[in-house]
Amino acid sequence: MQTDEIALSVRDIHKTFGKSKVLKGVSFDARSGDVISIIGSSGSGKSTLLRCINYLEKPDSGQIILAGEVIETRQDKDGRQYPLNKKQLLCLRSRLGMVFQNFNLWDHRTVLENIIEGPIYVLKCQRKQAVAQAEELMEKVGILEKRDQYPSQLSGGQQQRVAIARALAMQPSVMLFDEPTSALDPELVSEVVEVIRKLATENRTMVMVTHEMSLAREISSHLIFLDNGRIEEQGPPEQIMDNPKSDRLRQFLGKF
Ligand code: ADP
Ligand code: MG
Repeated sequence: MQTDEIALSVRDIHKTFGKSKVLKGVSFDARSGDVISIIGSSGSGKSTLLRCINYLEKPDSGQIILAGEVIETRQDKDGRQYPLNKKQLLCLRSRLGMVFQNFNLWDHRTVLENIIEGPIYVLKCQRKQAVAQAEELMEKVGILEKRDQYPSQLSGGQQQRVAIARALAMQPSVMLFDEPTSALDPELVSEVVEVIRKLATENRTMVMVTHEMSLAREISSHLIFLDNGRIEEQGPPEQIMDNPKSDRLRQFLGKF
């Protein structure tokens, strides 16, 4: 179910690396409960776009608005936009749960420690409460029996499920996924897809870069085709996948 409340607004994001224009004015809104999937060829700017949303990359220009709150920026010495206020940046990041392609877990911490770290140190939760919440989340993503193991002792699919639980533990208002299944062996993809599918039914706002076309079709309220740093086409997933209008999108879809 979606409401009309805008959870995340991405406005006219531009980003260059050296001379290369990677994002050329990307805008979209996610209403509360929307699942927005972003598809596009390798190098089209998908990861950069997600990273600009939480300022892991500094956009050259543009605006991010989270639940109506404009992230105030200033220009740094390279002319790029950077959040003015460190507190607001930390707050933004804690409200955006990010799941990366390569899991990015803390290797020297157990599964449980990975999940409770943010709630304890950032959200200032009591340890007992953080552990109780982590147990619920581990149960939800099916890794409860791995709670005292280290990431290196887990399969890629298990590690990614820990990463999802860790992001959820911060009770983010928007979840960002960057190709969460693309580093996995084919036989491990479905266990992560199952978890994402379940999250999509919980009225969570999600922005997901993916190559899993059937997942995107099934769970997305809106599909964006990013091509060469621009939104080339967007709309309901059936329309985009069954009735592509641009040659670029037809060509892209032809690869699947
Ligand atoms: P995608 O996720 O769609 O594959 P990316 O956003 O990772 O695309 O990359 C888009 C383009 O930006 C690519 O040409 C890539 O080489 C370039 N790029 C990404 N990150 C950097 C960086 N930190 N420095 C220089 N170029 C980068
Ligand atoms: Mg990428």
